[in-house]
Amino acid sequence: MSYKPIGKNLQGLAVTPNLQGYEQVCRQFSWQQIRDELAGLPGGGLNIAHEAVDRHAQGPLASHVALRYLSKQGGVSDISYYELMLQSNRFANVLNHLGLYKGDRVFLLSGRVPELYAAALGTWKNGCVLSPLFTAFGPEPIRQRMRKGAAHVLVTTQKLYQKKIVSLLPDLPELRYVLLIDAGQDGSQDETQDGSATVLSLPLLLEQASTSFTIVPTAAEDMAIIHFTSGTTGMAKGAVHVHGAVLTHYLSAKYALDLHPEDIFWCTADPGWVTGTSYGIIAPLCHGVTSIIDEREFDPQRWYQILQEQQVSVWYTAPTAIRMLMRGADNPREQYDLSRLRFVSSVGEPLNPEAVIWGQQALGLPIHDNWWQTETGGIMIANYAALEIRPGSMGRPLPGIEVAIVHRETEEKTGQELTWITEPDREGELALKAGWPSMFSGYLDEEERYRRCFVGDWYLTGDLVRRDGDGYFWFLGRADDIIQSAGHRIGPFEVESVLMEHPAVAEAGVIGKPEPTIGELVKAFVSLKPGVKPSEALRLQIIGFARKKMGATVAPKELDFMESLPKTRSGKIMRRLLKARELGLPEGDISTLETDDGKNES
Ligand code: AMP
Repeated sequence: MSYKPIGKNLQGLAVTPNLQGYEQVCRQFSWQQIRDELAGLPGGGLNIAHEAVDRHAQGPLASHVALRYLSKQGGVSDISYYELMLQSNRFANVLNHLGLYKGDRVFLLSGRVPELYAAALGTWKNGCVLSPLFTAFGPEPIRQRMRKGAAHVLVTTQKLYQKKIVSLLPDLPELRYVLLIDAGQDGSQDETQDGSATVLSLPLLLEQASTSFTIVPTAAEDMAIIHFTSGTTGMAKGAVHVHGAVLTHYLSAKYALDLHPEDIFWCTADPGWVTGTSYGIIAPLCHGVTSIIDEREFDPQRWYQILQEQQVSVWYTAPTAIRMLMRGADNPREQYDLSRLRFVSSVGEPLNPEAVIWGQQALGLPIHDNWWQTETGGIMIANYAALEIRPGSMGRPLPGIEVAIVHRETEEKTGQELTWITEPDREGELALKAGWPSMFSGYLDEEERYRRCFVGDWYLTGDLVRRDGDGYFWFLGRADDIIQSAGHRIGPFEVESVLMEHPAVAEAGVIGKPEPTIGELVKAFVSLKPGVKPSEALRLQIIGFARKKMGATVAPKELDFMESLPKTRSGKIMRRLLKARELGLPEGDISTLETDDGKNES
């Protein structure tokens, strides 16, 4: 079913959209102009924290609310730009006094509390590299990421430390300090030595630290963030981002989120994921707006209450949340005053056209889908306030972003040449012209893997899309096996590896099975070690085992036993085939399928 485009009446909008005359803005675009809208460090160079906080804190926005924190207990507290500058200065001083310098790695593992935000900004101020982790991860994904990222410091809470970190310490020799956000200020928890790491009370250190700090000089190309993202054929990849990424954050928030100075902005993503860092921390602060931080998890009634009570004007959320809201009240505006809300947008997975239409009916506003990935660092394709929306389309490229649709020929045939698809409505892989400021600058310690993402000047996204005759992009699917579940990207290999740690499991294959609310659920197929009999009790035990290790988001929700898993001759589990069989779809090319008698080998 195709849906009618949703036109925009500019007269009817509460504010004048930042992006008008799309084609002309694209034609005249220059990154230098965007750089000129930012400040730069006083002595030259570029630092995310200076653009996000200090330049506002030292100007007319000093007393403006930067962060409004809604605590788990129901309290509301405001932090001004000036206060945020002081708090992040204190954290930068703490790092500095502990002997952490430019390039050192600071990992964050905490819920959404103000200390997390001050720590992220203070990390950048001290020239260190930030890597946020998601609190729902179990110990194993945390171990992998902290090892790969060579974590020097971990900022976390007492509970998370005890539950997820203590057992990993022998395996994290580079970890020097664990800073506990909620430890006492009296020094009673000071200086515990756990393996090579010293465990310290962060409140005590902050109390002793000075509020003044001169930002360590950083350049646009200096490493600032490592975001771990799942791959199909290996452990999580560490996508590296640089301070210059702030140009994309600023630009995309201006055009794709249409931020204006008086806005109250709410990005619902957790900073453990890239959206929560780029748009939950950096972008809104760069625009000097007030940003809502909600410590609690999704709850339809409470979310509507936040929109109402906090007078949220711009809201950035995800299709899963929207789909869950769609199951509730038909007309929330009868119960809640949402009149301050003027712009809603969504990212993470395809936004069904029904959701766009629902937004218009239920919220009085259509939902603006936009597209990007961990590797792009910021929004690349979007629907805009002043442009027509085509429900189901992710929109048009951000000014400054050059986009193409290509076919990547197999290496044997052409040595990695690209075929350009220029006619409308033809499917191909989405490619982006390399060089935008938030383009990832590498995968940590995996140069070859990074190189393989590019052909010539083009970065290949791995997503299949088509472009209609008017330049709108439509998402068709992933070119690989990554599972998209509730806005998270889950690599099957990671899940399989953990399943195989269970003593009864011989082999495991994991796929994403379409599920209307969360996109895909994680389904596992498991073959058992000789002599072990399948049973319902064992099934539940293995799922429980995986949950404990990986967290409920990543662990399989369904698990089937199989005699043996379909594999290629070279030993790769054929997830594609598992999926096709599960969904009753054509099996496609099975020429490489390993069979008992070897007849089918190619
Ligand atoms: P991640 O790197 O974990 O943020 O995942 C990025 C991937 O999520 C993209 O490559 C897409 O496959 C998918 N994705 C993100 N946003 C959208 C969207 N608006 N429509 C469809 N897929 C999306």
